[in-house]
Amino acid sequence: MRSYDLIVIGSGPAGEKGACQAAYFGKSVAIIEREVMPGGAGVNTGTVPSKTLRESALHISGFQQRGLYGVDMALRPNITAGDFMHRKREVVEKEWDLIEENLRWHSIDRYRGTARFASPHEVVVDTSGYDITLHAEKILIATGSSPHRPDTVPFDDLCIYDSDTVLNIDRIPKSLAVIGAGVIGCEYASIFAALGIEVTLIDGRTELLGFIDREIVDVLLRQIRNRWRIQLQLGNEVEQILPGTDSIKIKLSNGREIVTEKVLYAAGRQSNTAELGLENAGIATGKRGIITVNEHYQTNIPHIYAAGDVIGFPALASTSMEQGRVAMVHAFDLAYKTRLAPLLPYGIYTIPEISMVGLTEEDCLEKGIDYEVGRAYYRNNTRGQIMGDTSGMVKMIVCPATKKLLGIHIIGDSASDLIHVGMMAMLLDGTLDTFIHSVFNYPTLGDMYKYAAYDALQRIARRERQKQQVLSAADSIEQRWAERLNHKDGAEAPPGESSPAGASPAEVAPVEGDAVAAGSHAPSNP
Ligand SMILES: Cc1cc2nc3c(=O)[nH]c(=O)nc-3n(C[C@H](O)[C@H](O)[C@H](O)COP(=O)(O)OP(=O)(O)OC[C@H]3O[C@@H](n4cnc5c(N)ncnc54)[C@H](O)[C@@H]3O)c2cc1C
Repeated sequence: MRSYDLIVIGSGPAGEKGACQAAYFGKSVAIIEREVMPGGAGVNTGTVPSKTLRESALHISGFQQRGLYGVDMALRPNITAGDFMHRKREVVEKEWDLIEENLRWHSIDRYRGTARFASPHEVVVDTSGYDITLHAEKILIATGSSPHRPDTVPFDDLCIYDSDTVLNIDRIPKSLAVIGAGVIGCEYASIFAALGIEVTLIDGRTELLGFIDREIVDVLLRQIRNRWRIQLQLGNEVEQILPGTDSIKIKLSNGREIVTEKVLYAAGRQSNTAELGLENAGIATGKRGIITVNEHYQTNIPHIYAAGDVIGFPALASTSMEQGRVAMVHAFDLAYKTRLAPLLPYGIYTIPEISMVGLTEEDCLEKGIDYEVGRAYYRNNTRGQIMGDTSGMVKMIVCPATKKLLGIHIIGDSASDLIHVGMMAMLLDGTLDTFIHSVFNYPTLGDMYKYAAYDALQRIARRERQKQQVLSAADSIEQRWAERLNHKDGAEAPPGESSPAGASPAEVAPVEGDAVAAGSHAPSNP
């Protein structure tokens, strides 16, 4: 039986990066993958294909030109699914090469087959011919997740797809219903709508993307409704999906019926743990097979680690990679990257793109955190004008007392790249002055950080002025009362007037336009 320092099960983002991290520090590593090609959902069915399709949709639809050169945004006539998928195939193949090169460079042994635990230190690889048993001191489970396929949905993968099988779509339909308005559902809805397909987006929840700042979601909603003409069916459960000969009928809980050519079901994912024989190693799981881990990504069996989608939220390629690395640093006591970064960025590749890091306005209100906002708009930015993006915005959430950033929210072109400027400032404890005193390339979208910072500073200054007004108004009322009392020599206050001693200055002296002092944050930019 071959023995290794580390066995990694799964070659997606968490597995690849975890394996390379350990191998980089001289550990002997085996990686087991059940699919022919490496990369997991990250490369084969999730991140990379969907982002490449988005780029293709932007290109094919002429959206990138946005009418700047009089280009029609309608779908190029006779576009085929093959045209649409062409670039995706090229990019995915390139990614395979990169992963294989990385594994080779780190001298990692590769095994093709389905892995299962035989004991806490032994893993059997079922190579669909014969079994190979491997032994290791440490094991990393990085088996990822797969689309949730409930029995109530009649998947045929010809007309009713999940987010994996939609990549095999045979032709561009005229209409598509997307069930599930989470990140994946919203992304695919806008990608297909950009191709000129009539899209209906259905979700039982009443709000779109509940964890995103509402003001940003409002901008997205305007684009979804007005630009893409996506029909939103929020707050409506799907009761039945009835496939017919030429179309599919979807019955909703509000009694409405949607008739569509194809359906994409994108509501939820489940951890890939069913085949792992976790019971042979004594590993505990939770809902939908999620493996529970501590902050070092150790399972309840200390030498067995788990990272990536298999441990649940946030289930992103970006965090999965880092979890894999952090887990291996702990496993082999490499003592340099002990925790996942305290701030995690989120990129949502709808059209337009959204990205965020830190707190939203709603988080601040819920937690009772004092905050101010600063905004800058793509339409007021030279690069935004050149690119033709006039709907985007950068929004900062700031602590008024320290001027430190609490959150950044961006909607518009390159949002998920642009977010990193603000995120680095937050990680380095930067304040609004960090942006005010920096020189930005011109013309760039990054320059909007400076203008958002100026806007936030102005708002903070206005707040201060209003506070001062309140205080001085209260002082003068108090003074007037004192004078009156002195004159009356102890006489009672006139009817209807109470003594200022019983009321706080703010209660007795509201100042005109005092919404900010009262805790309300007007959303519009003056
Ligand atoms: C449509 C879509 C879009 C997405 N977009 C983004 C995005 O824009 N940004 C982002 O950060 N994330 C995105 N994600 C999420 C991202 O793809 C996942 O978070 C990421 O791939 C998880 O990595 P992982 O290594 O944990 O698992 P996976 O990538 O799922 O890899 C797991 C691997 O383990 C293998 N495996 C499973 N069981 C076994 C077994 N028993 N034996 C051997 N091998 C096994 C699988 O074959 C697979 O190759 C998206 C996901 C989807 C579905």
